[in-house]
Amino acid sequence: MSCFKGKYHDELIGNAAYIGTPGKGILAADESTGTIGKRLCSINVENNENNRRALRELLFCTPDCLQYLSGVILFEETLYQKTAAGKPFVELLKEGGVLPGIKVDKGTVELAGTNGETTTTGLDGLAHRCQQYYSAGARFAKWRAVLKITCNDQPSQLAINENANGLARYAIICQENGLVPIVEPEILVDGSHDIERCAYVTECVLAAVYKALNDHHVLLEGTLLKPNMVTPGSDSNKVSPDVIAEYTVRALQRTMPPAVPAVVFLSGGQSEEEATLNLNAMNKLKANKPWSLTFSFGRALQQTTLKAWSGKDENLNKAQSAFLARCKANSQATLGTYKADAALGDGASESLHVKDYKY
Ligand code: 13P
Repeated sequence: MSCFKGKYHDELIGNAAYIGTPGKGILAADESTGTIGKRLCSINVENNENNRRALRELLFCTPDCLQYLSGVILFEETLYQKTAAGKPFVELLKEGGVLPGIKVDKGTVELAGTNGETTTTGLDGLAHRCQQYYSAGARFAKWRAVLKITCNDQPSQLAINENANGLARYAIICQENGLVPIVEPEILVDGSHDIERCAYVTECVLAAVYKALNDHHVLLEGTLLKPNMVTPGSDSNKVSPDVIAEYTVRALQRTMPPAVPAVVFLSGGQSEEEATLNLNAMNKLKANKPWSLTFSFGRALQQTTLKAWSGKDENLNKAQSAFLARCKANSQATLGTYKADAALGDGASESLHVKDYKY
């Protein structure tokens, strides 16, 4: 059998290309209830349904921000929520030209037979859930696989193969049910390794992922890749955005088929400003780049906004201005035109790294 030719074929290709439109990117607002709880706790706000809804409303209703976004990834609860005035979030996003997406994985568990490596759960019942999400308006999905770098032996070949296979199974199930799969093999930044090691591991992982996607007959034109940027480990010396850009683009050139329309990077604990500068450097780099290079940031789009808001109505304008500034900066970074003028001295350069990050 050759690659997927089902009833959603043309729609998948159209939606994947749209999400990759230069000048736009994805807001990852799909934190699970536990993860959003940690964010809310950091600003002394209770983790209840209404506060989670209020934070998402603040983001989606920021005046002028939707022009910089092509997609928003939602958690299941949020897919069915409304603004305080009663408008479904899905409608609001669609009217703003933004495709609603949905996190479909159920988190990671330890991969038996390894030394603490993980595999991602959520394949059981996935086809049925995708059908429900499609009916509710979702048009793309996310599944996060996690790999780690240790000195010698990790990621193991077993973890690479198992996670690549899981991503491929998820991807084809999504496509059969109308959702563009974002394929996310995140290699955690944790560790003291240098950028060479991160580049080598990223290339091994991406090569395995594309082999698996082909083996499972996934329509590459109807997918998006969400990788880590190639950087030194969090306990190693930093390098400049130009160096990160060179290593990252080279890793993609070596492994990623031109059939895939776009790369939507995760921010992975970088500060807001670092993530934007690194993306900008990649888009400025003169190199063969047959895909668009854009963003699917969670922490790096929301951190200063969250702090500025602190759960108080009177801070809404300040918080929304912070969010708009980051959306605009990242939009410029997708075009290589960011002038490093969005960090308003308000924490945008603060590291957002969390060891062994769970989403
Ligand atoms: P960060 O940008 O905070 O790494 O999160 C993006 C994401 O969606 C991880 O799955």
